[in-house]
Amino acid sequence: MSTVPETFGSLVFDDRVMRATLSAEVYASLRKTIDEGSKLDISVANAVAEAMKEWAVSKGATHYTHWFQPLTGITAEKHDSFISPAPDGSVIMEFSGKELIKGEPDASSFPSGGLRATFEARGYTAWDPTSYAFIKGKTLCIPTAFCSYGGPALDKKTPLLRSMEALSKQAIRILRLFGNDEAKRVVSSVGPEQEYFLVTKEMYDQRPDLRFTGRTLFGAKPPKGQELDDHYFGVIKPGVAAYMEDLNEELWKLGILAKTEHNEVAPAQHELAPIYTTTNIATDHNQLTMEIMQKVAARHGLVCLLHEKPFAGVNGSGKHNNWSIATDSGQNLLSPGKTPYENAQFLLFLCAVIKAVDDYQDLLRLSVATAGNDHRLGANEAPPAVISMFLGDELGAVLEAIETDKPYKGTKKTQMKLGVDVLPIFNRDTTDRNRTSPFAFTGNKFEFRMLGSSNSIACANIMLNAAVAESLRVYADRLEKAADFETALHEMIKKTIKDHKRIIFNGNGYDDAWIKEATEERGLLNYRTTADCMPHILDKKNVKMLTSLGVFTEEELQSRRDIMLENYCKSVLIEANTMVEMARTQIAPAIEKYAADVARDAAAKKAVTHDLACSYETNLVRKLSDLIDEIAAGADELDKKLLKVADVEDIVKQSAVIRDKILPAMAELRVPCDKAEVMTAKEYWPFPSYADLLFGVK
Ligand code: ADP
Ligand code: MG
Repeated sequence: MSTVPETFGSLVFDDRVMRATLSAEVYASLRKTIDEGSKLDISVANAVAEAMKEWAVSKGATHYTHWFQPLTGITAEKHDSFISPAPDGSVIMEFSGKELIKGEPDASSFPSGGLRATFEARGYTAWDPTSYAFIKGKTLCIPTAFCSYGGPALDKKTPLLRSMEALSKQAIRILRLFGNDEAKRVVSSVGPEQEYFLVTKEMYDQRPDLRFTGRTLFGAKPPKGQELDDHYFGVIKPGVAAYMEDLNEELWKLGILAKTEHNEVAPAQHELAPIYTTTNIATDHNQLTMEIMQKVAARHGLVCLLHEKPFAGVNGSGKHNNWSIATDSGQNLLSPGKTPYENAQFLLFLCAVIKAVDDYQDLLRLSVATAGNDHRLGANEAPPAVISMFLGDELGAVLEAIETDKPYKGTKKTQMKLGVDVLPIFNRDTTDRNRTSPFAFTGNKFEFRMLGSSNSIACANIMLNAAVAESLRVYADRLEKAADFETALHEMIKKTIKDHKRIIFNGNGYDDAWIKEATEERGLLNYRTTADCMPHILDKKNVKMLTSLGVFTEEELQSRRDIMLENYCKSVLIEANTMVEMARTQIAPAIEKYAADVARDAAAKKAVTHDLACSYETNLVRKLSDLIDEIAAGADELDKKLLKVADVEDIVKQSAVIRDKILPAMAELRVPCDKAEVMTAKEYWPFPSYADLLFGVK
């Protein structure tokens, strides 16, 4: 058996392979493109393509694909084989630089939000050399961006790369002001912690709701849930351990740094975290991870649920986006430094994030908005839909000292002057880590905790990078003109704290009192649903910021709003239709049959015992009959509302109808069904219960 270091990255055309297979000149030229974004010569592209093909074929690949991330949220690929006919009737394996650089998938079936109609019918994919090519099955996958011919991006990678560029540009301006002339780029990095559930394939197959929507639409609370907290970090069951082992191996081969895995809060819930890497690559890797998680599960007779809320009343699944920014030489700009100057620089970057999160709460909220995640946020298990920031007491006290010109407890001087006084060494390992905060500083990085488990992390990072770039732009504009840098810096940090401290909250984010304080006293936004927040992507201030930094064009934003709302509406409509069908064709008939059997048995019993009351049976049958009536009425009502939705054409209006009419009708239909479940003998119930699903994996 080969060792982990031997297999790690064995399916990746990474730096090691490039170095080994490319000539020195070609390698140097490609490296320059990867590191500095310089344009690639076609002769270099040809040489890279040839080497890639040779390497891929030697690993058993027969096809190649441009691998991209359309706005559906999953990845897409169209496979072409390497074969090319030779005159003698045989074939040779071919792959050109042109094919490597650009592809033309049939774009018509990907969502474009009207973009292609106004531009060109076709889209094209363009190689992203900053993310390594890899082999999946028998296919060489080339990470690419996906654009329409008129230019607008149809994917998530393009704006992500643009946001990283914008952030780098503005951060470099700041670093120059602090006398750093060496850094060429500033790069944002992410380590996404991924939560998921595992259920057996056998049970999954019996539940149309899981199969069609990824979550259960019915299900009474199990007698034992997560009350005992005995699952969290508990012993991993053998079936799950075997799955994780297999999963790790697959991920390692793809060069994905899967590092930690453990059980999560709910039974059957687990987490996988990779070691952090450049945002762009972390995004590609997270997409791949989600795909491989599902594939490997199938091999183990399991299904991996990535939905944010597969089970009502049970902890949902999220994704923690650990984010930091560093120079190309590896200096983490969110790490408090050792010298006063480094600390002043740290405080400025910290302030840039504080300002960004406060100014663009709406963009951060909508970057994680999906029908699935709406169920999770604010459900006492995940951060609320209100965005706030946790900094911890220590950092909070430092900021307060600066704002009020008061001495900080750790310093001797009467007043702290940035760049002159030594700040205290902040405790990196903050013990008061707050798990209820949507956006927490954790020593040298921020953890954005609102992402849903199925979300691509691209959207959140696009908005985060852009918003922070905007703060830095404002700062750099001011500081570059300042007569006295240190005074201007001090004033600016003070002003940021004053203007934006409302976003800082170190208390319990799950507390209802907080939501009241946040919205009523602090004026923070509380967008409960996707329908509430998504339209705000087109608010003037947001369009201005995102377009001026070159992250999106206005048309792209318009199209994204439409697509995200369409996704929201479609997901809920599929759920609602599935509910109606399950209620009518499975649940009601099952209860009916059970009630009829009980009634028949009662009649038989009466004949023998002459107990005319048979009160247990009579009551049960009565209650079940009432519930069947309620279920039938609920299904009819939901069905009627569904017919009406079809008439609402405007997508913003449709999403509001879904929120106000469909979702409440779904909740109403669920109640009698779940009530009936616990009154019906188990053998009659048409699908596995919550307890079966949650405790079914051995
Ligand atoms: P937790 O206690 O939340 O599980 P960890 O320290 O295990 O925190 O880190 C969680 C994730 O954060 C991992 O993916 C890790 O690689 C990532 N991470 C650590 N340091 C950084 C950093 N400087 N920037 C971005 N991500 C980071
Ligand atoms: Mg974490």
